[in-house]
Amino acid sequence: MAKYDVIIIGSGPGGYVCAIRCAQLGLRTACVEGRETLGGTCLNVGCIPSKALLHASQMLRESETTFAAMGLEGAAPVVNWEKMLAYKADTIAANTRGIEFLFKKNGIDWLKGWASIPEPGKVKVSDEIHEAAHIVIASGSESATLPGIVIDEKTIVTSTGALELGRIPTSMVVIGAGVIGLELGSVYSRLGSKVTVLEYLDQITPGMDGEVQKTFQRTLKKQGLSFTLGAAVQSAEATDGGVRVAYKRRKDDSDHAIEAEVVLVATGRRPFTEGLGLEPLGVGLSERGQVLVNERWETAVAGIHAIGDCIEGPMLAHKAEDEGMAVAEVIAGKSGRVNYGVIPSVIYTHPEVAALGETEESLKQQGRAYKAGKFSFMGNGRAKANFAADGFVKILADKDTDRILGAHIIGPSAGELIHEICVAMEFGASAEDLALTCHAHPTYSEAVREAALACGDGAIHA
Ligand code: FAD
Repeated sequence: MAKYDVIIIGSGPGGYVCAIRCAQLGLRTACVEGRETLGGTCLNVGCIPSKALLHASQMLRESETTFAAMGLEGAAPVVNWEKMLAYKADTIAANTRGIEFLFKKNGIDWLKGWASIPEPGKVKVSDEIHEAAHIVIASGSESATLPGIVIDEKTIVTSTGALELGRIPTSMVVIGAGVIGLELGSVYSRLGSKVTVLEYLDQITPGMDGEVQKTFQRTLKKQGLSFTLGAAVQSAEATDGGVRVAYKRRKDDSDHAIEAEVVLVATGRRPFTEGLGLEPLGVGLSERGQVLVNERWETAVAGIHAIGDCIEGPMLAHKAEDEGMAVAEVIAGKSGRVNYGVIPSVIYTHPEVAALGETEESLKQQGRAYKAGKFSFMGNGRAKANFAADGFVKILADKDTDRILGAHIIGPSAGELIHEICVAMEFGASAEDLALTCHAHPTYSEAVREAALACGDGAIHA
């Protein structure tokens, strides 16, 4: 029986980052992973493969839409789907092998197999029991489906099946207009599928800034995606040609149906804690199946912690990573912290969408006085040159103190631009601090500065 300071269950962004930080802090560390490869949902069937397909399909779209205008002429590329999937697989392998290398470099033992916790301080992997002073549950999440829909991962698929389709479908229905549905819907739309998105709510990307939601939906429509909002899906059933999806319009309860070759169910994810044996141990779970923890990521059982998608909070890789580092610090007797008020979220479509902190809607709800500085990419020279002038940067700041409270960007490289505002917020900066910071010309980042200027005396190029 091996004895460790820490055993982490799950090697996703939460688990592997936690393992590396524990090892760096001098703790004897092991990480259990049941998959064949390290990296969890994110590296194997999530962030990384979806971004590979988004990148490849966007290259194709650009070749079709902007190349000729720049004097780049010639035959448009033809999609070789098998090769595109091979590129995606190579990208995954390069990343998962990278984690394996980091484990070796940091002296972390990879315990291969599925873990359970027979009692506090013990982790069972296959038939072996390992002892640890601390156990960190980082078991992640799985796709949630809807009642009346059976996933076969061939024609009725979750994101996992959608990353691995046998061929590019002629038509696809996406159920759910959240991040995953819109990213993968964009991929197939760019590759030639007729994509229809069905969404229960009356707007896409719930929780996002309302102005961004509207601009985003309009932009995706222009790109060829169709939307049916206020649609309560009832069932999805295989037919000769594909799948028939039945739904009710919420506004009048009328029945409708749509057929497609493939249906992607993208209605969210739920925590995955199956097989760990948490309930008999006394580890508390919420109604939604999340492991309950305190502000030090401790469960109700001494020595058992939990982080990432299996606990409360946004299901994002970087949130899991931050918690992984923080809980390692706590276990090592230091003070780990995560600032949940400054966690960006990004949709990697084209244009990208990035959100941070408060929205206008949430501030109004709180009755908090704020000012909004907005700048359109139409006024940004670099964006105009690159055919990327759709969208805007919006910064929200406290009306009295000018402290930045949130930011919302739809536009080129929004997922990168958001980070200077993250840093500013982390340091408690005012909009004026950003506005007085010199930004290189010509960059997309100038649009961030202009939005900050718009919180004060006004943007220059508006
Ligand atoms: P996971 O990554 O889910 O890892 C958990 C690991 O634990 C798994 O490998 C699992 O096999 C293992 N495990 C579970 N139970 C056991 C057990 N009993 N024994 C052994 N091993 C076990 N997030 C972003 O921030 N950006 C994105 O662009 C993004 N894109 C996404 C795209 C898709 C299609 C999907 C599905 C998700 C995406 N996400 C994205 C979400 C992101 O993948 C998750 O938030 C992140 O992976 C959570 O990390 P985690 O460490 O908590 O869990």
